[in-house]
Order: sequence, then C-alpha cells, then structure tokens
Amino acid sequence: MAGLPPPPPVGASALPAGTFDGTAVFVTGAGTGLGKAIAAEFARLGASLVIASRKPEHLDAGRSAMEELGAEVLTVECDIREAEAVAAAFDAAEERFGLPGVLVNNAAANFPVPAEDMSPNAWRTVVDITLNGTFLCCREFGRRHLAAGSAGSIINIGATYAWTGGPGFAHSSAAKAGVKNLTETLAVEWGPSGIQVNCLVPGLMPHEDMTDDIQGNLRRTHDKDACQPALRVGERQELGWAATFLASPYGRFISGHTLVVDGANWQRRTLTQPPVVTVRDQMGRPPFTGE
Ligand code: NAP
Repeated sequence: MAGLPPPPPVGASALPAGTFDGTAVFVTGAGTGLGKAIAAEFARLGASLVIASRKPEHLDAGRSAMEELGAEVLTVECDIREAEAVAAAFDAAEERFGLPGVLVNNAAANFPVPAEDMSPNAWRTVVDITLNGTFLCCREFGRRHLAAGSAGSIINIGATYAWTGGPGFAHSSAAKAGVKNLTETLAVEWGPSGIQVNCLVPGLMPHEDMTDDIQGNLRRTHDKDACQPALRVGERQELGWAATFLASPYGRFISGHTLVVDGANWQRRTLTQPPVVTVRDQMGRPPFTGE
C-alpha cells in the first residue's frame, strides 16, 4: 500500500497568480515552522506580509524568507498576550500597508506534561498565548474592519485534540477547543459585516523549528509515516494551500468552518481500543507522589 499520494512541490499553487495582489496578510508567529509556510503561500500569490512575534531572530528569519519570494514585509515585535502590543502591531501594519485584509492566528505555545505535574503557570501561559492571544488579535482585526466597513478574513490555527482531548496536552487541547469555538461565534457575529472566520487544523507536519519538547515527544514514534492512515506525514505547503484557498475569493462562502488537513490521522482507526498506557508511562516519568 502506498498511502495518499505526495503533494505537488513547494511553489505550485491552485490559485491564480496575483490572487492576493494589494492585500496585506497579518500572520502571528510567521518566523518559524508552519506560520512561515503559510505566509510563504500568501507571498507567492502577491500578498504583502506582516509578521508579528516576540523574538528578533524569528522575525529576521520570516523577513528573509518572504523577501526571497519577492514580497514586501513588515516585522513587528509583539507578544500577543498584550492587548496594547497587538493594537500597536496593527497600527504599524496599517501605517505601512493599510488595514490587513487577512489575519492568520498561528502563534501558539505547547509542551507535553501530565496534568497532575502541570504548574498553574504552565496552564496559564499556554492558554494565554493560544486562546487569549488569538482572541486579542481577532478583536483588534474585527474592530478595525467593523469601524472601516471593510470585509476581511480570519484563519485561526487549531488542533485536532480540540475534539478528542489531548493526553499530555491538557493546556493546549483546552485552549485549541476554545479557539475552534471562538471561530464559530465570531463567524456568526461578524459575518453580516463581511468578515469570514475559519479555523484550519494541521496534522503532523514536522519541521526544523519545532521546540525541543515537541521534537522529543515525536521521537517517541519511530516511524511517523507508518503511524498515519495516509502512510505519510503532511508537507507544510499543504497547510499553506488550504489557508490561501480559505482566504481567497473562491472560499468566501466558507465561514465558521474548521478544516482539518491531516490525512485522516485523528479519526479512530482500530476495531477495538488498544490497551491503556498512562501518559506518565509514555513519557517515562516515575509514579506521581504528590510532590
Ligand atoms: P512553532 O514553530 O513552535 O511556532 C510558534 C510561533 O508562535 C513562533 O514563531 C513564536 O514566535 C510564536 N509565538 C509564541 N508565543 C508567542 C507570543 N506570546 N506572541 C507572539 N508570538 C508568539 O509552532 P508550529 O509547529 O509552526 O505550529 C504553528 C501552529 O500550528 C500552532 O498554532 C500549533 O498549535 C499548530 N499545530 C502544529 C502542528 C505541527 O505538526 N507542527 C500540529 C497541530 C497544530 P516567537 O518565539 O518569536 O514569539
């Protein structure tokens, strides 16, 4: 069995050249991994990019990647947990390009830890970045478009454990469930004003920028391809293509939707469930002692 066929190469696109000419696209966390891959697909289709995140080295990496594709880029240092910083980033974006027509809420934080070992600070940090930060960026984008009477498109990046729960990821999976739900609310609230809101969920798309924690978690799976119904992991451009389609004129009537790009990796796949192995055991942690 060969699994799902590989995608076209990076650089191909199903959308017409110039689909995003004259549009500024604001992507959080676009200096690394999947955010950079999403931004690249918009850049290839003519968009100008606004990249917002905290670390100068990530912003520099995002800038060079977009400039190599011929896109105009603005990078803004911004912690999406801070409403004032988010507002300042949108001010800078508007000043440079006019109001961005597309917002991609890609930035998130995550690391595996059994729930009983999770500190209150770890919980708050992940929820603050992933859910609260996404809301703050949506709010800023929505308020500006509502005030201007202009249409726009929001894509929130989710995760499949929004539906299933995520053992070892209580903070992130709860936050991503919130992101999916927020998408549905905002799509209804802002649809009458011309703002489309969707959620886009990547499957396993390994990349070199993954944090050590996440890479360590992945190393627990020896053959990642064989563990996918597609018999392969995802290529990051496959996520970028889905994002550009959703925000394009051809995706305009899709709103409030969560699109999963994961080769059916999250569906149940066994006749009966395999034996339970606790998250502690999977992570090689000693028994919990209450410490
Ligand atoms: P990543 O490489 O770890 O990137 C996270 C990005 O978010 C970084 O660029 C980081 O930039 C930014 N960020 C983190 N905290 C921030 C903050 N407080 N304010 C502003 N920016 C912040 O992650 P990824 O693997 O590309 O994942 C991208 C998205 O896909 C995430 O939403 C993730 O949950 C989702 N996802 C990924 C996979 C996968 O297989 N990779 C699977 C399912 C879902 P700075 O450090 O510069 O702030």
